[in-house]
Order: sequence, then structure tokens, then C-alpha cells
Amino acid sequence: MNKADSEIITGLLVTEGYHITECQEEADVVLINTCSVRNHAEQRALGRINVLAKWKKEAPDRKLGVIGCMAQRMGEALLSEKPFIDFVIGPDEYRKLPHLIDNGQYEFRVFTKFHTKETYNNIQRCRQSGITGWVTITRGCNNYCSYCIVPYTRGRERSRRAEEILLEIAEMSEQGIMEVILLGQNVNSYEDGRNRFSDLLRMCGQVQKILRIRFMTSHPKDLSDDILDTIATEKNICPHIHLPVQSGSNRILELMNRKYTREQYLGLIEKARNRIPGVAITSDILVGFPGETETDFKATYTLMEEVRFDEAFTYRYSPRQETRAAQMEDHLTEEMRLDRLDKIIQLQRRITLQKKREMIGQCVEVLPEVLSKQSPDEWMGRTPTNHVVIFPKKNISLGQPVTVLIETCKGSTLRGIVDLN
Ligand code: SAH
Ligand code: SF4
Repeated sequence: MNKADSEIITGLLVTEGYHITECQEEADVVLINTCSVRNHAEQRALGRINVLAKWKKEAPDRKLGVIGCMAQRMGEALLSEKPFIDFVIGPDEYRKLPHLIDNGQYEFRVFTKFHTKETYNNIQRCRQSGITGWVTITRGCNNYCSYCIVPYTRGRERSRRAEEILLEIAEMSEQGIMEVILLGQNVNSYEDGRNRFSDLLRMCGQVQKILRIRFMTSHPKDLSDDILDTIATEKNICPHIHLPVQSGSNRILELMNRKYTREQYLGLIEKARNRIPGVAITSDILVGFPGETETDFKATYTLMEEVRFDEAFTYRYSPRQETRAAQMEDHLTEEMRLDRLDKIIQLQRRITLQKKREMIGQCVEVLPEVLSKQSPDEWMGRTPTNHVVIFPKKNISLGQPVTVLIETCKGSTLRGIVDLN
């Protein structure tokens, strides 16, 4: 989400005549786009900001701006802690940036108002080169999962109008982008007054038949039959659903305010797999929530064994001051959280590997994305199910979809060959 936001911000600035530089010494302005979802992310951003104190001191005319969720969350406090920061701007006020930098002098230095209608329409995004591009379809979140800071830093959920999204996708396709990722905290609840998410997906799938469409994140409580059917029928909508479960314990799911049960989640997985043969399911898992007992943890562990996710992002709970969970009792020790995290990481590694090995011998469509890190003679690309595959480059061009026969899975890397005849 922040990477997509950075493309909006650079787009805003480049339109006003600013240039982007890779070299910090050359820059007159540095903006740090920050995330608040876990303490670790904030600490890393603070570390980066501290390093920039020296850069700022060398030439005080330089401008240092902190933007994004930390700016929203900490506002004034960030400026008083680190007075060398020139301004802080939250996720709804990026349109102010060009003027703010231009002017140099400003009365206020903190911009953290919520603009509940802001969806950053009519901005020429400055996309990172490549064949994959992000399109934000919703901003904010209304779900208030009890552990999560997002509704407090990104405000209420709002959807961009479908026409606007379709136009952007058509432009991207003209520019040679081959894969579009629709983004939102909960894309399943997309609603622009006329279209729901399944409508939008269908329309996105029809912009250009060759264009792959991905989407994330799906919330289990809003993954409707319509959405599943659309994924099943529209051939260029990738059969991959990122469906965070967070926990396998009903007691914890309730405390988390996730609004589904373990049984409902498992039912959804079964339905998705029946309706979309070969669908890949990935997830986010959060262990060490306040009050999580050994039994609760086991329920998460067994759910993971039962579902066998293709991949899972695993986290240990990190208290976020503004949220309800932070006020709950029975916080676990860091040691316990780490111990549980380690167990599910090991489990998921085994499952991911088994599932990848099951792909050996299969022919899959792969879209070459970048040269492989190991060799300039190999492409790295992804299957529609989002599996990474390495294969010989030969005379295949970037962004040219090819059929690859998966031959090996060494370490966790899938390798294959292309039969061009
Ligand atoms: N909107 C998405 C993702 C939100 S943030 C969703 O609902 O799934 C991405 C992931 O970070 C979450 O799925 C959750 O697993 C994790 N996360 C959120 N708050 C957290 C916290 N306080 N501590 C640790 N992990 C957290
Ligand atoms: Fe956070 Fe829940 Fe919203 Fe995801 S759905 S952003 S976890 S509040």
C-alpha cells in the first residue's frame, strides 16, 4: 500500500516539475513514507530518520518530510522528538506536498486531517518500471480488528469509482504493464455506489484479455460467492486469494473482532477450492494475541495443518497503543510470542515446500518479470497462482507469458524449462 502511495506522491511532485534522484546527496527533499502496523516497522523508520539528521545538518535548506501512517499517528510528537524534521503529512493530505515544498516557509508543519473522500483520482502516478503495477481501489478501513492501527491512521474506508480504475488500468496496459494488482485493506468490501467488488473484478478482467489481474487483501467475512464465481469464470483473473485468517481459535477470533469463526473460514476454503480448481490460498497469521492460551495457539497450528496454505505471512502480536487489544489483559511475554512464531514459521515452511514439490512435472504459465538474482541468463517470473519460477532466458522477452515445465524444487526455488516449439 505504501509503495503504491509513493507512486502517487512522486507522481504529484513530478507533475509539478520535480525530479526523482536515486542519490541522497543530490536531493533537496527527502520524504520517508512510513508504516505503523507493527512496532518493528516504526523503529526501522525512526532509525532511517535519525540517519538523515546528518544529511539535513550538512545543508539546512534541505527538506525532510515524514509521511504516511507514523506521521498520522505521532504528528506533533514526532516533530518535538526530532526537531530537524521539516513537516509530517498523513495519508489523506499528500496533495499538499508540492505547495508545501515550493513555499519553503510554512505556518503549520503537521498535516494530519482525514479527508474521507480522498481517493487520489486524476493523478498521473509515477510508476516504478516493470511489468507489474498497483492500482489502489479502496483506501482506509472500517473493520476495527482489535489489534490493528490501520483504521486510526488511514481513516474510513472509501472506494474509488470504477470508471477511474478502469481508465487507469487501460493506460497501464498501453504502457506495457502485463499484470495489475488491485489494492485495498479489504478489497472484498469495495462499493462505489454502483458496483461491488465482483462487478469491478469482472470489468477489470475485460479491459485487456492478456492483462493479468490480481487483488489483495480479501477479508473472509466479505468473500462472497459472486467474487468466487468471477475468479472462476474470468480467465485472466489470477486464481490466488490472499485470505488472512489471523487465528484458528474462535475465542481469539472473537476478541480480535474478525467476525467469522474457524468453521466458517474452513467452509470458505472448501468452497473456494471447489469452485476454482487449483486456486492458491495464502494467509496472514498473528500469534501471541493478548490472552492466547496454549489451546488457542494449537487451534491456529491445526488450522494451518488442515488448510495447507500455499504461503503465509506470520507475525507475532505487537501492541499498538490506540487499539482495543492494547488495553486487554494477559499480554504474553515476548519470549512466548517468539516461541509460537517460530513454531508456525517452521510448520509453514514445511507445507510451502511440500506444496511446491507437488508442482514438479506440471506445466504452468509464467510471466517473466525480472532477471534472476543468480544469473543474467535466467528469468524470474510468477505463475497465476503467484508461485515464483526460474527458467532459462533464451530469446524470451520481458513480459512475454510462456509455458514452463517445472522440473526441480531446490531449497525453496522452483525451476523449469520452456519448450518454445
Ligand atoms: N487489511 C489486511 C492487512 C492489514 S495489516 C487484513 O485485514 O488482513 C497486515 C497484517 O499485519 C495483518 O493481516 C496482521 O496479520 C498483521 N498485523 C496487524 N496488526 C498487527 C499488530 N498489532 N501486531 C502484529 N501484526 C499485526
Ligand atoms: Fe486492520 Fe482488520 Fe482493517 Fe485489515 S481489516 S486493515 S487487519 S482493521
